Amino acid sequence: MEEFKPRMGIEVHAQLDTTTKLFCSCPVAFGEEPNTNVCPICLGLPGVLPVLNKRAVELAMRVAFALNCHLHKESRFARKNYFYPDLPKGYQITQFKFPLATSGSIKVDEKIIRIKRLHLEEEAAKLIHLGDKTFVDYNRAGVPLVEIVTEPDITSAVMAVDYLKKLQKILQFTGASNAVMARGEFRCEPNISVSCEKGKLGTRTEIKNLNSFRAVKRALKYEIKRQKKILQEGGTIKQETMRFVEKAGVTRSTRSKEEASDYRYFPEPDLPPLLIKEEWMEKVKRSIPTLPEERKKRYIELGLNEEDAIIIANSKKASNLFDETIQQLDEPLEISKWIIREFRAHNEPNISPTSLASLVKMVIQGSISRIIGSKVFSMMVRTGRTPEEIVKEKSLLKISDKEALTSVVKEVFAENPEEFKDFQNGKSKLIRFFIGRVMKKTKGRANPKEVGRIISEYEQKH
Ligand code: ZN
Ligand code: MN
Repeated sequence: MEEFKPRMGIEVHAQLDTTTKLFCSCPVAFGEEPNTNVCPICLGLPGVLPVLNKRAVELAMRVAFALNCHLHKESRFARKNYFYPDLPKGYQITQFKFPLATSGSIKVDEKIIRIKRLHLEEEAAKLIHLGDKTFVDYNRAGVPLVEIVTEPDITSAVMAVDYLKKLQKILQFTGASNAVMARGEFRCEPNISVSCEKGKLGTRTEIKNLNSFRAVKRALKYEIKRQKKILQEGGTIKQETMRFVEKAGVTRSTRSKEEASDYRYFPEPDLPPLLIKEEWMEKVKRSIPTLPEERKKRYIELGLNEEDAIIIANSKKASNLFDETIQQLDEPLEISKWIIREFRAHNEPNISPTSLASLVKMVIQGSISRIIGSKVFSMMVRTGRTPEEIVKEKSLLKISDKEALTSVVKEVFAENPEEFKDFQNGKSKLIRFFIGRVMKKTKGRANPKEVGRIISEYEQKH
């Protein structure tokens, strides 16, 4: 039996996080009234000229550097022609022969996946199908995209998803894209071929219509199996574009794949070559925030265990909060616990590092208990107030005052005469019971150590 090996490459389109479109100053916004963020340029009216958005170039440059790409000092724009209602000009401005960057690499599951190219292009309009009618929303037309294409180095569906997750993190950490899949800001089209001869690629198919990582995994697994079966039965694979039917969990043919020649690419005459100066390159390189991998290493050096380090490093918001909080309070372990337990449990709310630092400090110093601290955290999220304000207003400071606590202890004894008798007669483990009652009575504000000391005095005395 011959062994068929799958090889996959992935094309990703990510929306660059700019405030305006790629070639005009229309705002980029999500979920607005259709056809409100449009102008003659993005509507493709005759006689208008595109002007390149510098910010979009800068964001794409960041991704290129983060993917170890070779960034070209000169790249060019081209027209990709096809007729479809989502394309007002009848062509898409993209980069073809001279992309912004080439030959990068990324390490996934201890394997290197080569990045073939990375280029800038404009987004098409959005088609909305309602009943037997189709509507067009041009708000999305002209939104800046970065397209990232790998070599066919991916060898399993799991690896494909791991690659996509890693790439998504890179896009988010570099600030290049929010890369939210559900909002269409991160879209992927894998291509798959199966071959038996070492190094030789079979005929490939491409899968469209994937809108979750789960869908990617299912579609790839299905497509690999489908191709293997055809080859095992002596058939041949047709080069075609497939669509993933989520409900049925199968891929179906859509249309045969167009060749590049069908797009009649030619140089965009309205835009000069994109020239990038060394100086700008260096500046952009320096502006790239550190990526999850590096952050994880640093956190482990700070004493976090690997699991916690990964959790924090993988979230840009958590990681930034952690980094800024430890600047103010040198307690990385304690702070990491608060970020993992509270910050994440509250869906990564907007909490200032100063507030988090002072909350953690109050707990470490014992002025509030851990349980109260957790309540204060919730209140900080709800009200946006500082922990000091909350603690003061709600009088949450721990009661360590011996006199005050002794009177509470006495109350508890009086309320539980049977247990008190047993306790005095040597049933020492009842101390836990009494501490619990005192904590309850003081709503968690009593200093449990101090309470324990007071209670045990009664045992020895009598
Ligand atoms: Zn516009
Ligand atoms: Mn594209």
